[in-house]
Amino acid sequence: MKIIKMEVGIFAVNCYIVFSDRTKEGLVVDPGGDAKRILKAIDEYDLDIKSIVLTHGHGDHIGGVLELKEELGVDVLVHEADLIMLQDASRNMSANMPMGAVEFKPDRLLKDGDIIEVGDLQIEVIHTPGHTPGCISLKIGQHLLSGDTLFKGSIGRTDFEGGSYEQIIKSIKERLLVLDDNTLVLPGHGENTTILEEKLYNPFLE
Ligand SMILES: [Zn+2]
Ligand SMILES: [Zn+2]
Repeated sequence: MKIIKMEVGIFAVNCYIVFSDRTKEGLVVDPGGDAKRILKAIDEYDLDIKSIVLTHGHGDHIGGVLELKEELGVDVLVHEADLIMLQDASRNMSANMPMGAVEFKPDRLLKDGDIIEVGDLQIEVIHTPGHTPGCISLKIGQHLLSGDTLFKGSIGRTDFEGGSYEQIIKSIKERLLVLDDNTLVLPGHGENTTILEEKLYNPFLE
C-alpha cells in the first residue's frame, strides 16, 4: 500500500491518493482543489482510481471533486450525515469561497464500520462526528486519515454549523486514541503525527 500526500487548494487541504502498489488500484481522499495536479499524479503512477472518498462535506475538501469525477468516471462516497451539506453551497461554505459554489449529490453514503474495498486494500470507515456531523476517519492498516477531526497538536474547529466540541473530544478519545500507538495519522491539514504523540502532547486531549 502506498499513500501520496498533496497539499491542494487555497485552504491547504491535504489530498491523499491511497493505492495498492500490487494492483495499482486506489482512491482519492478529499480533492479540495487543483484537480489537474491530482490527475497528473494519477497518470504518473499509472493508477486505476476506483472512487473519491470525502472525510466530510466542507467546501475546502470538495473543490476538485466534480472535475475529477468527470475525468475518472468514479463514484463519490461520503458519510450519510454530511449529505445535506454537499447539496447546499451555503451549508458547505463553498458559496463564500473564491472557487465558487460547489453542490452535488454523492453516489454512495457511508456509515460507521463500513469497509471500502479497493484492489487488495481494505479501508475501514470510523465515524468521528464533532467537526461536522458526518466526519469520518479512514483506517488502512497502520495508517489513519483523520480529516479535520485530529491534527498534530490540535483538533478540528467546532464553531461551524453542526459542530460540537463535546462530540469531537468524545470521537477522538473513544474512537481514535484507542488505536495502536504507532498508527501514523495523516490529517486533513498540516503535518503527520502518531496516535502516541497526540496522546502525550495534544493540549486538547488532556
Ligand atoms: Zn472542515
Ligand atoms: Zn478542512
